[in-house]
Amino acid sequence: MPTCIICHENIEIEESSSIKSYTCPNGHQVHRKCLEDWLVHSQVCPLCAEKYDSNTISEFTEYFDKIKEQKEQEKQIKADMELEKVISNIADDIILLEKLELPRKLIKQKEFKKALEKLFALIDDNSQNMDVLFLIGKTFYLDKQYALAVNHLMKLIKKDFKYPQGFYYLGKTYQALGLNDKAKWAFDRVPSEDSKS
Ligand SMILES: [Zn+2]
Ligand SMILES: [Zn+2]
Repeated sequence: MPTCIICHENIEIEESSSIKSYTCPNGHQVHRKCLEDWLVHSQVCPLCAEKYDSNTISEFTEYFDKIKEQKEQEKQIKADMELEKVISNIADDIILLEKLELPRKLIKQKEFKKALEKLFALIDDNSQNMDVLFLIGKTFYLDKQYALAVNHLMKLIKKDFKYPQGFYYLGKTYQALGLNDKAKWAFDRVPSEDSKS
């Protein structure tokens, strides 16, 4: 039974008679898949260094071109999709910013319950949004619901460690609870220029 000179495994009879195997001009047989990988690097037989005949090479060249073209197309589609995603994310951010205006106003008016209602309605479809999570934590703090404030601010900083305002309000909440060590830990993570926001 002939063996493939690339992978050294047998070439089955039915394989050798079909297009699944190829031979070099000196009759060295290779599997189609093995030759496919080999031709990417070289056009000569790995055993005798004789060049494969042009029909074989052109057959694979066409195949490689097709693969390349497909990959290019996939890349283009992926790039288009990513751009679309970026645009839609920006749109989402703008919409969210508008949606946050009302809860922010309610917080200023000390309408904490109403503000929380609006914020929790937003978190359903924006559970990953840090600003919503932050405002919920801050509102619970302002409403003196400290345990819930800690709960949400912790959730926030676990998702985004670079959210200084989250640490700031976490510190204030711990302070209100008399947990001064924890408060210090939180305040230590606030860059000084952010500590007054
Ligand atoms: Zn092989
Ligand atoms: Zn050969």
